[in-house]
Amino acid sequence: VVAVRDLTKRFGERTVLDGLELEIGRGEFVALLGRSGSGKSTLLRVLAGLDPDVEGTARVEGTVSVAFQQPRLLPWRKVWRNVVLGLRRDGENRSRDRRVAEQALAEVRLSEHEDDWPLTLSGGEAQRVSLARALVREPDLLLLDEPFGALDALTRLAMHRLVERLWRTHEPAVLLVTHDVDEALLLADRVLVLDEGRIVSEHVLGHPRPRTATDHADVRSRVLA
Ligand code: ATP
Ligand code: MG
Repeated sequence: VVAVRDLTKRFGERTVLDGLELEIGRGEFVALLGRSGSGKSTLLRVLAGLDPDVEGTARVEGTVSVAFQQPRLLPWRKVWRNVVLGLRRDGENRSRDRRVAEQALAEVRLSEHEDDWPLTLSGGEAQRVSLARALVREPDLLLLDEPFGALDALTRLAMHRLVERLWRTHEPAVLLVTHDVDEALLLADRVLVLDEGRIVSEHVLGHPRPRTATDHADVRSRVLA
């Protein structure tokens, strides 16, 4: 679903992505690690089609959903409306929208906040609304930019399970940006490390799941090397 060839992105003098190559197959779950400022969010924006000003090619097939690092919710629309915003399905009405939103918000454990205004939410709650909004689109490619960063450990665990379950059911390709190596090892088929504008290492994780502790420790030490 993703084919990136020789992708270069500059901001003025600064080269953030430098001849990057990346392929993601249908239904593949890929985690992307890299230092702060290494260009992870920039790559996601390019893949989402939000930044066409690049050199090289970034081909994406099918529909794409993004959950941004900073959730972008429309402040003048209630939480549930934000979830289904722009979802166009012929012949369907507002009450159907409402049901879709309710179900998605229940999955991210936000049922009590359906009728809240976005500005009253905590950071972690806003992130989960953003996740719900990405999920209701049932995309071919799901781009997640540190979607669990602001969550407490318990909610994060619940979100890991949710993402894994949705991934199994709808089989989107996923590109997950995270700073958490263990999260990457837990969820992904393949872990990539971005540095100086290129993918500098790649680790394919063993199947089947769940992986053994030995597997995990082994890949972990290689990723961190
Ligand atoms: P983090 O882990 O902190 O989120 P990141 O890997 O997502 O970092 P990016 O947000 O992609 O990093 O930014 C990469 C570099 O590009 C940074 O040095 C940033 O300052 C620069 N950059 C990003 N967007 C712009 C922009 N619109 N104009 C100028 N520079 C930018
Ligand atoms: Mg970022």
